[in-house]
Amino acid sequence: MRTFATLCRACRHTEPDARDLLSCPRCGGKWLDAAYDYPPGWQERLGRYGATLWRYRDLLPVRDDDNIVSLGEGWTPLTRAMNLGLMLGHPHIYIKDERQGPTGSFKDRQAAVAISMMKEAGVREAVVSSTGNVAIAYSAFCARAGVKLWAFVTSSVPAEKMREVALYGSEVIKVAGTYDQAKQVAAQFAASKGLFLDQGIRGIAAKEAMKTVAYEIAEQLGSLLAGRDPMIAHDNHHPWQTPHWYLQAVSGGLGPVGVMKGFRELREMGLVNAMPKLACFQVAGCAPMASSFHKGLATAENVDNPATDITTLATGAPGESYQVLRELIGEHGGTIDAVSDAEAFRALDVVAKMDGLSVEPATAVAFAGLFNLIRQGVIKRDEIVVINCSGHTFPVEKHIVGEHFTRDMALAGAAEEAPREEGLLTALEELDPRVQRIAIVEDNPDAIRLIRRILQAQGEFLIEEAHNGIDGLKLIRETRPNLVVLDLMMPGMDGFAIVDAMKAEETLKDIPVIVVTAKELTAIERRRLYGKIKGLLQKGAFMDVDLVEDIREALSE
Ligand SMILES: *Cc1c(COP(=O)(O)O)cnc(C)c1O
Ligand SMILES: [Zn+2]
Repeated sequence: MRTFATLCRACRHTEPDARDLLSCPRCGGKWLDAAYDYPPGWQERLGRYGATLWRYRDLLPVRDDDNIVSLGEGWTPLTRAMNLGLMLGHPHIYIKDERQGPTGSFKDRQAAVAISMMKEAGVREAVVSSTGNVAIAYSAFCARAGVKLWAFVTSSVPAEKMREVALYGSEVIKVAGTYDQAKQVAAQFAASKGLFLDQGIRGIAAKEAMKTVAYEIAEQLGSLLAGRDPMIAHDNHHPWQTPHWYLQAVSGGLGPVGVMKGFRELREMGLVNAMPKLACFQVAGCAPMASSFHKGLATAENVDNPATDITTLATGAPGESYQVLRELIGEHGGTIDAVSDAEAFRALDVVAKMDGLSVEPATAVAFAGLFNLIRQGVIKRDEIVVINCSGHTFPVEKHIVGEHFTRDMALAGAAEEAPREEGLLTALEELDPRVQRIAIVEDNPDAIRLIRRILQAQGEFLIEEAHNGIDGLKLIRETRPNLVVLDLMMPGMDGFAIVDAMKAEETLKDIPVIVVTAKELTAIERRRLYGKIKGLLQKGAFMDVDLVEDIREALSE
């Protein structure tokens, strides 16, 4: 049987082996943290405990293994974002893929620990308030644990999400008001019925759950940087590592509060020697923490009427967590910034098309924030960044991808035995209406992949590639593309020579050329290209938008 103590944030009172504690016995304070005598040898047991967040159970607030309620949560992949990294010119961006939890968001961690603690305390019925994902995750785990759940949500939470809550057998109460009002109603309901009320960020379960994100990042990053597979759960012989930055979209701020507690514990145990800088992102229509932070306020100014479509992040009254986050940033560095709904939806599109990640709008807020911090030079090129990819988009809501995303195919004459050969060929031809050919001449495979991907995502170009100058000129002669995307520095025949050769040939001289280069051009080199090319783009300088615009312009002339 494990034990832990409870520490009150208000008066620092420590209650050893405190059970079922909802407030500090000395001052009544409600913000409680768990504290442990770090049990010797707990790291050796990780492999035996396996590939869920319960591998850290020796430092989690559940006393008896029999009370653990698990659906396989945690130990999510940490992967490098190669294409985004190329696009942003930043080689060290790592994704903590929390979409892969049992209900598709990092709230699965919170639910697993909170419901396990409820089971241990003998709770049979509980009340929770949520901006969406907590209700879903808690409902799944409550189903397993045999706990009846009353989930209070705001009426702006997408109906698709709420249907899942009902599917798990929870009661869904839609409150026509803000999230902060829903929270109050939930508390009143719990008090009046004598039911257990989930304590959210102030209680122990949620923060302890989120700290496992930090443990996993440190453990997996250590393996990755040692050149090993970070997902092998029984191999922990590499030194653990702290990234330079931890990035997350925030609503109530629970994630970063718990994650930073995790890194602090690892540092106290001597497993890592640094703390990350913390960047939190809110959505501009509900950004009480970001705006208060930038005004230098010690307590947050609430937002009474959130104005955003991203309901997951609509906490207008962050309360004490703002102070905690502000202190953490003051001590370790970082920022709390805001991005607009539009920036978030654009980032959502980019991460899906560039790196194959379907994220929910709330998660996209963090990616938009990442793009901004890299552009502003706040995040440096040599710093390791871990971004919490906090939730999956399922279903993809209509306003994200509209109605006309299919190409419809009618096979003529259903009455005939088989579609006639020509008819089928025409139909297949019509499926692919791309007429504009683009030739990419580039020797760096990463750059080719990125450029091809940027163009493919636009859907309207036929793309061919050559990997050196000689083959490039051959390809251009043979296919007479509508446009050439050209690298300058290549072995053998370089980009300058290709441009000159094209200008010298009657059939090629009018084909527009866009140069994409990593090289700072000298004045002489610029003069060599002057008047001969349609555009010049610097590699790695957030090139996707610019490239597509330059291409559209060059093709429309
Ligand atoms: C809850 C949630 C957030 C915000 O997390 P907090 O740490 O509670 O502020 C971000 N993204 C997703 C997908 C979420 O479900
Ligand atoms: Zn106290």
